[in-house]
Amino acid sequence: MEPDSADLSPATVAVHLGREPREPGAQVGAPLVLTSTYIADGPVNYARVGNPTWSAFEEAVGALEGGDALSFGSGLAAVAAALSLVPVGGLVVAPSEGYNGTVAALSDQAQAGRLRMRWLPDVTDTEAVIAALDGADLLWLESPTNPLLEVADLAALLAAASARGILTVVDNTFATPLRQRPLELGADLVVVSATKHLAGHSDVLLGVCVTPDSERGRALSERLLRHRTINGAIPGPMETWLALRGLRTFPLRFERAEANAAALAERLRTHPAVEVVRYPGLGSIIAIDVVGGAQGAERVAGTTQLWVHSTSLGGVESQIERRRRQPGEPLRVPENLLRLSVGIEDVEDLWRDLSAALDGA
Ligand SMILES: *Cc1c(COP(=O)(O)O)cnc(C)c1O
Repeated sequence: MEPDSADLSPATVAVHLGREPREPGAQVGAPLVLTSTYIADGPVNYARVGNPTWSAFEEAVGALEGGDALSFGSGLAAVAAALSLVPVGGLVVAPSEGYNGTVAALSDQAQAGRLRMRWLPDVTDTEAVIAALDGADLLWLESPTNPLLEVADLAALLAAASARGILTVVDNTFATPLRQRPLELGADLVVVSATKHLAGHSDVLLGVCVTPDSERGRALSERLLRHRTINGAIPGPMETWLALRGLRTFPLRFERAEANAAALAERLRTHPAVEVVRYPGLGSIIAIDVVGGAQGAERVAGTTQLWVHSTSLGGVESQIERRRRQPGEPLRVPENLLRLSVGIEDVEDLWRDLSAALDGA
């Protein structure tokens, strides 16, 4: 018998979905299929169109987000696919403090005349966001935002946009389907960088688009699949296989990382070298503003021994970075902001290392 994911909790879904039907002799592990083409007259004739390893990963991620998933070569490839849904000259409403790659993609397309932008200075101002929806073709949301960790009222914003017939996309990379399922809140499309929490081992880049199981959702999924196929925005089977292997432990890892983050956020609030702690009370990402400006922040990131000084997030290892060292980072992100991606190590080891680096600031 196959498990029915609707009755199962995420921890079980992550372990059991995306496997072969249970028949005597069937493999228990998902297949890693390395082929560029298939014998003629089957359901898929060429591997830019489909691959069984992608399908296994997509089945598991889709079940977690509550929709149908399509995998892409990176999170930004999934973002590009989502943006391809906007008609030429269409108006996009999006947070100016969103993920810098998404902001760059939108800015470039606006500059090229492919679409028009209306930037949102503050996604927490629900009334202002709703007021900005006039004439929009797409509402792009990210919550919590990267790296300011501002939280939008997704339910209210998605309802307002849907009532106006506006296409809605939510980047769910930070909260993950364990803490927020935007499709249930009415989103048309969820975009995720699986590079981060879902794969979780800092060894692959991968993206996902998830659409609801409805007529509208299926129509969007067809357009996204066509975009993936004709633009070649496909993931590698090896990357997808690694991501599925990582996904098996995602709920376990996330729970541990989140517990670590909550404990560290609490202690950071009273550390004299920390001016501001941004932690929305969920997830494994914390942002702190430290004393000593940009230099102070660089010194902290450069002196930790356990925390890895690197960009990216959501891996098993704790990572630290001064975000403004990224050229495209929005200017509202303070110069002295450090983004902490809390991993699954022992929390006391993490605190000893981090507090020693902060003491030196
Ligand atoms: C990293 C990230 C992306 C882009 O994903 P890649 O896999 O790096 O291309 C998109 N959105 C958010 C919120 C991210 O953190």
